[in-house]
Amino acid sequence: MKIKERKLHEHGFVRLIDVMGDDNSIADAARVSYGKGTRSASDNRNLIRYLVRHKHTSPLEMVEVKFHLKLPIFVMRQLVRHRTASLNEYSGRYSIMSDNFYEPSEEYIQPQSKFNNQGRDGDMPDTWKEKYARTINDITYKCQVAYKNLIGVGSLSHGGLARELARIVLPVSNYTECYWKMDLHNFFHFCHLRMDDHAQQEIQDYAKVMYELVKPHVPIAAEAFEDYSLNSISLSSMEADVLQYALKCFPDLKEFIKNLKHSEDIQFDMSRREWQELEEKINK
Ligand SMILES: Cc1cc2nc3c(=O)[nH]c(=O)nc-3n(C[C@H](O)[C@H](O)[C@H](O)COP(=O)(O)OP(=O)(O)OC[C@H]3O[C@@H](n4cnc5c(N)ncnc54)[C@H](O)[C@@H]3O)c2cc1C
Repeated sequence: MKIKERKLHEHGFVRLIDVMGDDNSIADAARVSYGKGTRSASDNRNLIRYLVRHKHTSPLEMVEVKFHLKLPIFVMRQLVRHRTASLNEYSGRYSIMSDNFYEPSEEYIQPQSKFNNQGRDGDMPDTWKEKYARTINDITYKCQVAYKNLIGVGSLSHGGLARELARIVLPVSNYTECYWKMDLHNFFHFCHLRMDDHAQQEIQDYAKVMYELVKPHVPIAAEAFEDYSLNSISLSSMEADVLQYALKCFPDLKEFIKNLKHSEDIQFDMSRREWQELEEKINK
């Protein structure tokens, strides 16, 4: 497979090193449980959409994706929370750490969000953006100089401290690299969590590029993931109660929804079975 690479931010990259399997591998694995039947492309699509819709996800685990990533340590810390990945990271004990540091671009410098304690929101005057950017740049430079002095590269060194100790002065904006491998089921789960608006912008950037690189290898599974997971909504039992009550109060609305499957004005890409499932939900 030809390795595909996308640069990210100033110093990072995402390389898709390898993909094992494709949509056919998912369908073939599923047919072990459902029997062979016919094997046309449209059958594969129906089968994979059925699997994803009903969370029969083990056939998706037959596909694996492997990346080479260069990313800041603070993004790496979020990445390693996804425990179903296999990974191997650059060693700061064995090797000299990278000279590259993440410094947010102007549009990424935003104030603390007033609504979301975990995020940023809104804008600030350019003068403040410049001050914050300068503070980040100054401290980054000082840390870099200290690290070099400690390992024996700078003018103040006396032979050099062990790399495993010297690295403790480096900030989490320092770049690291890893090989990272995951099966498709868990990769979709990772993408769902990390492409979401609530995830930190920088890991969103990585997850979106990773997803876009994988998508052409599994177009049917990716379409199903987008339709039944990524762009779907789930309701709490109270929210479902609100909708059920509204449907009860407006019986015409129920009929209207049922009749939409025959509409000539608007088309929904739903199978007969999905219309039936929707009907069961609104009749609950
Ligand atoms: C927006 C956002 C904010 C976050 N904020 C924080 C934070 O403030 N602090 C923090 O510590 N973390 C935080 N996290 C990390 C989060 O709590 C999860 O650890 C991370 O998203 C991995 O999710 P996961 O466990 O579903 O995925 P994975 O680790 O990839 O696991 C995939 C699935 O495997 C199963 N699984 C894996 N391991 C186990 C296990 N030991 N037991 C049972 N089932 C298992 C689960 O079904 C799980 O969903 C945040 C994540 C997001 C997306």
